[in-house]
Amino acid sequence: MTKHILVLPGDGIGPEIVAEAQKVLTRVNDTHNLGLTFEEDLMGGCAIDKHGVPLADETLARARNADAILLGAVGGPKWDKLDRAIRPEKGLLKMRSELVLYANLRPALLYPQLVEASSLKPEVVSGLDILIVRELAGGIYFGEPRGIRTLDNGEREGYNTYKYSESEIERIGRSAFEMARKRNGKLCSVDKANVLEATMLWREVMDRLAPEYPDVELSHMYVDNAAMQLVRAPKQFDVIVTGNMFGDILSDAAAMLTGSIGMLPSASLDKDGRGMYEPCHGSAPDIAGQGIANPLATILSGAMMLRYSLGMPEAAEAIEAAVGKVLDQGYRTADIHTEGTRRVSTSEMGDAVLAALG
Ligand code: NAD
Repeated sequence: MTKHILVLPGDGIGPEIVAEAQKVLTRVNDTHNLGLTFEEDLMGGCAIDKHGVPLADETLARARNADAILLGAVGGPKWDKLDRAIRPEKGLLKMRSELVLYANLRPALLYPQLVEASSLKPEVVSGLDILIVRELAGGIYFGEPRGIRTLDNGEREGYNTYKYSESEIERIGRSAFEMARKRNGKLCSVDKANVLEATMLWREVMDRLAPEYPDVELSHMYVDNAAMQLVRAPKQFDVIVTGNMFGDILSDAAAMLTGSIGMLPSASLDKDGRGMYEPCHGSAPDIAGQGIANPLATILSGAMMLRYSLGMPEAAEAIEAAVGKVLDQGYRTADIHTEGTRRVSTSEMGDAVLAALG
């Protein structure tokens, strides 16, 4: 049975890193007889340049028909001055909300070979393996009303709305409990229930779900403390579940614990497990076109895609093992390079993963 993948390289380093991921997926497609087919399209700034909008209706239709989507990253200074309604990020947000990709899985896994690249001491981070489950389709990034208005006194005021319905909280809660169940059975729900009503309800719903998952130990933590604990003693966490904005921030902090944001894949899933896969980082315009970006987060996103949306865990493991092997062999892109390791370009890293796949 064929599985159709929509590939959206996007902007900045997007095309460079997606090319490497596609190289790797094409290889496992051949060696494992996966029946994958690929189709490429535009989203983000490149789509604005061609169609005048960051996500064309035809692209969205293709995304709806695909079994999974592989995305590089969108955005860059070229499009920063455009009207907010057609900025590159709007395309990404529209894709997430139209396909109801509400469960964002962001693993923060420290490869033992990269302990030295972490900003924290080896004893604090070695063995780190956290999964952040971020609600992606609601919260303050989507809440209405929103905007910038002029008050009676002539001063301008920016405003956003932070809201979550019980059903939105329940569905992300269930995803997180399920994930915790498959891991070490610990789930920490992060909120700001001492200040924000929306997160008081969040906490109440998480508590209500807990008895249905007796094998999972649920705890709660305020977001300010969670930020502190992530850099103080990150190994206390197994699975963290949180809302859209807190998850955005905490997952980037967790990313740095692992050495580089260039190592971290992510999945954004709908209720049936269909989803979009992308690295946690952005389009890195500061290094675009230089051939130095780390493609491993995108390659590992491809592995997550095989596991979570396409039901091909063996091929996923083969890719993950190959990434471990190239790190063992000492290959490093600039962002994770340390003394005594071998510095390679984006495409050389992709080639090394291919060689490790055999
Ligand atoms: P960024 O993640 O693009 O870059 C932050 C830093 O990390 C930069 O120094 C960059 O060089 C480095 N970096 C990122 N990915 C790397 C990789 N694979 N290898 C090596 N180094 C890497 O974040 P930013 O600079 O805040 O944002 C740049 C643009 O990306 C903005 O337009 C932003 O809106 C967009 N963005 C897009 C997404 C997305 O598409 N999902 C996510 C975040 C930011």
